[in-house]
Amino acid sequence: MSEKGFFGQFGGSFLPEDLAKVLAVLDEQFEKYKNDPEFINEYKYYLKEFVGRENPLTYARNLTEQVGGAKIYFKREDLNHTGAHKINNAIGQILLAKRMGATRIIAETGAGQHGVATATACSIFGIDCTIYMGKVDTERQALNVFRMELLGAKVVPVDQGQGRLKDAVDAALADLVENYQHTFYLLGSAVGPHPFPTMVKYFQSVISEEAKRQILEKEGKLPTAVVAVAGGGSNAIGAFAHFIDEEDVRLVGVEPAEAPTLTEGVPAVIHGFKCLTLIDENGQPKPTYSIAAGLDYPGIGPEHSYLKETGRAEYATVTGEEALEWFQKLSKIEGIIPALESAHAVSHAVKLAKELSTEDVIIVNLSGRGDKDVEQVYNMLHK
Ligand SMILES: *Cc1c(COP(=O)(O)O)cnc(C)c1O
Repeated sequence: MSEKGFFGQFGGSFLPEDLAKVLAVLDEQFEKYKNDPEFINEYKYYLKEFVGRENPLTYARNLTEQVGGAKIYFKREDLNHTGAHKINNAIGQILLAKRMGATRIIAETGAGQHGVATATACSIFGIDCTIYMGKVDTERQALNVFRMELLGAKVVPVDQGQGRLKDAVDAALADLVENYQHTFYLLGSAVGPHPFPTMVKYFQSVISEEAKRQILEKEGKLPTAVVAVAGGGSNAIGAFAHFIDEEDVRLVGVEPAEAPTLTEGVPAVIHGFKCLTLIDENGQPKPTYSIAAGLDYPGIGPEHSYLKETGRAEYATVTGEEALEWFQKLSKIEGIIPALESAHAVSHAVKLAKELSTEDVIIVNLSGRGDKDVEQVYNMLHK
């Protein structure tokens, strides 16, 4: 076990030796390139020309007037190419993979969103792409499988275990151990063993780097609070990053009430790192059932576990029903159909805005757009 990558008692790297060696090399290479101006320039180039950054910080005038409390702004990750924040991380990690000489990318995906972002990034960089996906998930998300295939990726259905995300992660790790000499594992959230949580935060920090500059331009002051939904925790840690040292800014993470990892979890090691985790009587990770597929994970990034433990960030829960309500309301009020994941953040931000005054300002990270969820919501409302 390495001492690196700890956030208080959380994080670290609890892995068999062969895998630990592979990640030690990754850590070393990431440390080498993260401050390399040429690397950073190339990353910024693709964020601008391919992803479409910087995206706006939009004042939600209608919503603010209707709620009648704090001013609400949306950081528009929904406007990124492929419709969410995940592409920021996929581009960053691929650029690193290329410098490390990798000729093949592998990734896991649950509902398919990280798989689509990875396949997209592989397409533009002309690199071979294999996506592991639980067999059950490939059946439920057939259109996302087709999307990844259109983008040139090979999707491998995993039917070990329950045929879900956890089994896809195991299959990807086994592939990495076997093929590490030319293969790069592109992880999709701020979870996993060191250096992944640190690396994913680095690539997602562009969210708060922009938002901080934008809110200072628009309001001439820092926000009262930054609100973001936390599944594995990557969009939230990216939205918090440049505000963590600003002690007067409240950092508010929102979890699904159906998978309240930070609210009800206990410290445990899953997938090679320590975090607050929902476990059953036998000490196994509990299955979770959020209506938002991107939030269905029994663990959470180690840094969020630490921010919760130290009290620097606060975490609230929102039910699937409340998210569904705000999926519809935000569409009607602001002309923005949010991802079901992001609708959780909106729902809590509205509660918070009501408790604050008109002098206060809230930034809500709109992690993604809801096009992917329209069919599911249609079926939920019409059954
Ligand atoms: C994947 C996803 C999430 C959850 O992942 P994090 O790593 O917690 O950010 C949230 N919102 C959207 C739109 C997603 O696609």
